[in-house]
Amino acid sequence: MRSDIHDILQKYWGYTRFRPLQEEIIRSVLSGKDTLALMPTGGGKSITFQVPALALEGMAIIISPLIALMVDQVENLQQRNIEAAAIHSGLTQREIELILHRCIYKKDIKLLYVSPERLQTQSFREKLAKMSISFVAVDEAHCISQWGYDFRPPYLQIASIRQYFPDIPILAVTATATPRVIDDIIDKLELKSPQIFKQSFYRENLIYNVIETEDKIGKILKLLKEFKGTSIIYVRNRKKTVTIAKHLQSLGFSAIYYHAGLSADEREKRQKAWINNRYRIMVATNAFGMGIDKPDVRLVIHLDIPDSIESYFQEAGRAGRDLKLSYAFLLYHPTDIEDFRNNIKKNFPTLETIKQAYKLLCQYYQLNIGEGENEIFQFYINELLKDQDISAVDFYNSILILEKAGYLALSEGIKTKSRLHFLIDKNTLYKFQLEHPEWNEFIKNLTRTYSNLFSEYTNISEDNIALKTKMSINEVQNSLLALKEQGILDYLPSAGENTITFLKACIDEADIILPNMIYEDRKKIATSNAEALISYILNQTKCRSQILLEYFGEESLIRCGRCDVCVARNEVNLSKLEMDKIINLIKPLLRDKPMNESEILEQFSIMDEIKIMKVISWLIETDKIIRLPDMRLRWKR
Ligand code: ADP
Repeated sequence: MRSDIHDILQKYWGYTRFRPLQEEIIRSVLSGKDTLALMPTGGGKSITFQVPALALEGMAIIISPLIALMVDQVENLQQRNIEAAAIHSGLTQREIELILHRCIYKKDIKLLYVSPERLQTQSFREKLAKMSISFVAVDEAHCISQWGYDFRPPYLQIASIRQYFPDIPILAVTATATPRVIDDIIDKLELKSPQIFKQSFYRENLIYNVIETEDKIGKILKLLKEFKGTSIIYVRNRKKTVTIAKHLQSLGFSAIYYHAGLSADEREKRQKAWINNRYRIMVATNAFGMGIDKPDVRLVIHLDIPDSIESYFQEAGRAGRDLKLSYAFLLYHPTDIEDFRNNIKKNFPTLETIKQAYKLLCQYYQLNIGEGENEIFQFYINELLKDQDISAVDFYNSILILEKAGYLALSEGIKTKSRLHFLIDKNTLYKFQLEHPEWNEFIKNLTRTYSNLFSEYTNISEDNIALKTKMSINEVQNSLLALKEQGILDYLPSAGENTITFLKACIDEADIILPNMIYEDRKKIATSNAEALISYILNQTKCRSQILLEYFGEESLIRCGRCDVCVARNEVNLSKLEMDKIINLIKPLLRDKPMNESEILEQFSIMDEIKIMKVISWLIETDKIIRLPDMRLRWKR
């Protein structure tokens, strides 16, 4: 061992002590044992593999599911003068070779980040055998489980690298800890009598609340006024981040928005501005938050139903890292629940539809049975679906399933969109159109199709523009590049080419086999996960914190006493004193002028609403107040 782990923590990170369980996990890895570490987001998982990587001779392999995560961590380590590198598809072959050379011959790298896909390639495996490896860490280890919310089939292959180094330990870390997922991780990674460390997921200072409302915006305003301090508002789609942020700004709130459609630069700028308190409120899609560690977030509001309990717990959990009292609110409208169920269904088109999609692909690329293996084709969904009776959503979801089942591979370009932004204002553009009539039609088409091009980078589809302008996709791309050269607009083509690769030769669609693990089981799991979230939302009897903890396999006997459910239960028997206090507040209001319930609630804290409603019902029952024909309430004289 090179040096004591406390010295390493102090020297490279400047931290004086380990957080709960970090030291135990590290010591377990150092003693050569397979280890499973379950810690909620923000618990400090990275340190548990970074410190032993420095303490041990040789190099640690870190398996990570996302390029963004890897790059982020490597940069972070390099800033601390730690030699780390990541091998991913964003690098050139030359860059990859240089890194591998360092790993094998120079041996200066202490942590090498790779994707599970990379691990599967023969060439990498041959190199791996020549490296001196201290241990393997599997980050986001829940990705190995089809029971989890983020299943990645390549994770299943990780255990097979053990044959190269049968004696080195594996450390699996994750923030998901449902019992099924834990069993699955141990099983699929073939962990040998692992040491399991689990940090409690209980967050004493975070109060979870769910509110059913017809007026989400009104509720947000109330929450923001009531709970001062930094806030995050999560919404489902990108457009909404913009509209909500603008609405809040127009009301004088300091708000900014964030979504994955913004350029990397722009995202970083916005994130920094919010972290440095230049803005109070971040309105974002779930793309926001990974790796963000702002301690003083006081309020997290979900305006739409999140993906799963796991993601909800993570997103809400960004509040109160500093251990001070903080609040999470999930706002929903009853129709949201149905929409949510439908969305889950859409991810799993029927087998018939999937087969139809596959057949269409083979026909479009003119592949006969037995042809096409490993062939790569340009892929433009609008062009492909012209005159077909399958919706783009069904088609896209079908090919995602075919991809998971190993028939096809989609390029990054399909999953990331190109972006466009006008660099000149409307008048200048108009002048340009007059002076260059040859561009008039094309530009008109752009501005008609996309409304936000003047104000921000907007996702576009060359395919869609081609369809509208009756140009070829190539012509569209060249035209956009030409306008870019003239300084009219900025055009950021998508991350890669839009291609689809047939991994297997074309077969008769009737012969398509979708393993249960990819389709049937996944569908059942997705449905049952969704139902778990729905019952969390609709629940009116059990403490919110208790439900979440139980979901993560933790027995919890203490009610938080402060969530909406606990408050409602506590207030079943309001004391006479409290009753009188509230009545004394309501009485003058309703004597002066009739009001409806929401106008009355406006006058009180959101946390008191349940109490107030109880008192109002009592006042109606006992005939102290009456309801007017227009539904408003008036104090009876
Ligand atoms: P996780 O991956 O569990 O969400 P991270 O590894 O990103 O958490 O750590 C969260 C934050 O806590 C990071 O900013 C990290 O530097 C910090 N941190 C981790 N361990 C310690 C420690 N022992 N002392 C102080 N800060 C720590």
